[in-house]
Amino acid sequence: MDLESILLPGLTPQRPMVIAGPCSAETEEQVMTTAKQLVDRGQKVYRAGIWKPRTKPGGFEGVGTVGLEWLQQVKKEYGMYTATEVATPKHVEEALKAGIDILWIGARTTANPFAVQDLADALAGVDVPVLIKNPVNPDLELWIGAMERLNNAGVKKLGAIHRGFSSYDKTIYRNIPQWHIPIELRRRIPNLPIFSDPSHIGGRRELIAPLCQQAMDLNFDGLIIESHCDPDSAWSDAKQQITPDVLEYILNLLVIRSETSTTENIKELRKQIDECDTSVIELLAKRMRISREIGTFKKEHSITVLQSDRYREILDKRGAQGALCGMKESFMRDIFEAIHEESVRQQMEIINK
Ligand code: PEP
Ligand code: MN
Repeated sequence: MDLESILLPGLTPQRPMVIAGPCSAETEEQVMTTAKQLVDRGQKVYRAGIWKPRTKPGGFEGVGTVGLEWLQQVKKEYGMYTATEVATPKHVEEALKAGIDILWIGARTTANPFAVQDLADALAGVDVPVLIKNPVNPDLELWIGAMERLNNAGVKKLGAIHRGFSSYDKTIYRNIPQWHIPIELRRRIPNLPIFSDPSHIGGRRELIAPLCQQAMDLNFDGLIIESHCDPDSAWSDAKQQITPDVLEYILNLLVIRSETSTTENIKELRKQIDECDTSVIELLAKRMRISREIGTFKKEHSITVLQSDRYREILDKRGAQGALCGMKESFMRDIFEAIHEESVRQQMEIINK
């Protein structure tokens, strides 16, 4: 699976593939005006939520089926492809009947395996691209599980959307990116197209440009961005929507770097990294040898393997030393926690021999 597998005729496999449009379809006029402004700025794929998952009842829950007719009109008048969120088999049925080109599964739905299985059953054998947003909780297996359910149902044009993860902590983001999760997804399923959703990660306009750039630097394939003809009066997610004008501006400024390095320079630097890694491994092995000697000493003198004070001292000192060398203290602590764990394991082997 690669970007070409979800590409529709007429789209080029160029990074980034962009899906843009309002968070929600609100009125026929809003849908058509936004689409016209987007198509005039070169956009080819239009998103709009028809059914909106809301945290509490009483919010705007989407216009429902009537909005599908507006999306059909976007397709007919402006030749754009259309995309919307489906959360139930009924949504799937209606969206397919209306000829929607791309479906996506929302973050709240991906978190529920029963709901995903119902969608997979409804989509069985259907040849429509389906993009799966990450679940609200940072659980890569749950995300991959959702893709497996669809894949098992014969849905072959699959993609992922990284929209960040919910957290109780207050951060600058609406949903913290935890980039290592989509990076690990890429390692596990190398050819799966991955989109970034800077609108839902950032939750505010100023963060969209830097998040788009970050996604491109991490070699994501596409972007799904909320764009509205009048963002301030949007019925949902007003703070994170941008005008088609601003969208064009942001996309034009993006620097797209290629993944493959052609320069000798980077080869040379990689050789140096390989050498560093070899030295790190040799040093670790030496440290473990010394640790085993300490293990023998502890055995002979009947001392416990775990010496809490010493462990605390190591974590504190190494954290501070690392910080002096420009590394995060928490990163140093993680490393030395892992080293200590292996050290204890090796000493336990000696003591119990
Ligand atoms: C959306 O795309 O408008 C949406 C509801 O997103 P998410 O499922 O990521 O919250
Ligand atoms: Mn939204």
